[in-house]
Amino acid sequence: TIGMLCIDETGDIAGACTTSGLAYKMNGRVGDSPIIGAGLYLDNEIGGAVATGMGEAIVKSVGSFLIVELMRQGKTPQEACEIAVQRIVKQHKNYKDFQVAFLALDKNGNVGSYCIHQGFTYVKYQDKQNTNIPSKSHL
Ligand code: ASP
Repeated sequence: TIGMLCIDETGDIAGACTTSGLAYKMNGRVGDSPIIGAGLYLDNEIGGAVATGMGEAIVKSVGSFLIVELMRQGKTPQEACEIAVQRIVKQHKNYKDFQVAFLALDKNGNVGSYCIHQGFTYVKYQDKQNTNIPSKSHL
């Protein structure tokens, strides 16, 4: 999955995601990416969130919507991503067997990210510069 969140100089936010789905997926499976609220959500008043990893867990937690709503309540993008991953960890006894990663951006341009397993990295483009940022992880 590729997820993208952008904010322009006037503060308008946009987001997108694209995916090939999971390897060996069942015919007809719908993952999280095409479901607004699961793999992608944004509210131009608050911010946006995108997800990658085990789509079933992301759908079940309505993770991207959850993150935007947590930011609405005052959480930072980082805190909101951590709460969403903790929710998934709590919901799945086998959480060590799969990866989920969230990325979030708020209205002020702050970003955050959190994942289950170490290894998820995202790129921040700002002031004509790309920076690779390794995500914090639960494990
Ligand atoms: N989230 C995608 C899905 O479950 C898979 C991925 O992120 O690679 O369809």
